Amino acid sequence: MKIILLGPPGAGKGTQAQSISKRFQIPHISTGDIFRKNIADGTELGTLAKGYMDKGLLVPDEVTIRMVKGRLSEPDCENGYLLDGFPRTVYQADELGKMLAAEGEAVDTALLIQVPRDFIIDRMTGRRVCPSCGASYHLVYNPPMVKDTCDVCGTKVIQRKDDSIDTVVDRLDIYDRQTEPLIEYYLAKGILRVVDGTQAIPVVFESIVKLLGSKE
Ligand code: ADP
Ligand code: AMP
Repeated sequence: MKIILLGPPGAGKGTQAQSISKRFQIPHISTGDIFRKNIADGTELGTLAKGYMDKGLLVPDEVTIRMVKGRLSEPDCENGYLLDGFPRTVYQADELGKMLAAEGEAVDTALLIQVPRDFIIDRMTGRRVCPSCGASYHLVYNPPMVKDTCDVCGTKVIQRKDDSIDTVVDRLDIYDRQTEPLIEYYLAKGILRVVDGTQAIPVVFESIVKLLGSKE
């Protein structure tokens, strides 16, 4: 099962990915999380990525694709995976498609979490994340059980630097220009599925499970 999550920043991809990954027993691969881990570890890749991320820009395609190819060749990806935040450009999508085709494989489903623009700013500016495990929370809609503390690993949650209002506007602009065309791209391939992301988190998850086929 190879799934791509599509949707604007703040749509709820990371939030749903945590539950989908558990339910369907496939690894959740978030390119944003991998970049953030590299930044925290002070790697060369992290230093390069940070310059782009802090400004709300995309990390160059070649760098991102090389990183994803490396990650997808790890043993835990043998039975499928859930991609969150990749591909983000048509070029990345083409490269992913070519990489899979070389092994006689293909993406099974591109799942769009559809959320209108007026929900997004509120979701992104209220987002808090765990810097250790990447879990995503919201001050109002999905607060941690203990204030400011990650439910999963107990680390103090933080606000992402790129969730400040100025950067959010730039990121949405980049989404419109570079990432939104992927909706048509996967529609044309006949693998696009759409869920209404404006519902409460568990309701969105149930819609996703129905679409992907339930698995207990
Ligand atoms: P993405 O990974 O698509 O950028 P996240 O999963 O991090 O988005 O969600 C963005 C913010 O919106 C987070 O603060 C999250 O808790 C919140 N959120 C996610 N899904 C919903 C929902 N269905 N209703 C309300 N808030 C949500
Ligand atoms: P995310 O956690 O998905 O919101 O991503 C945070 C930031 O990481 C983005 O704004 C980009 O700067 C960078 N990033 C994540 N995924 C990609 C990608 N597929 N291509 C380019 N840049 C990416």
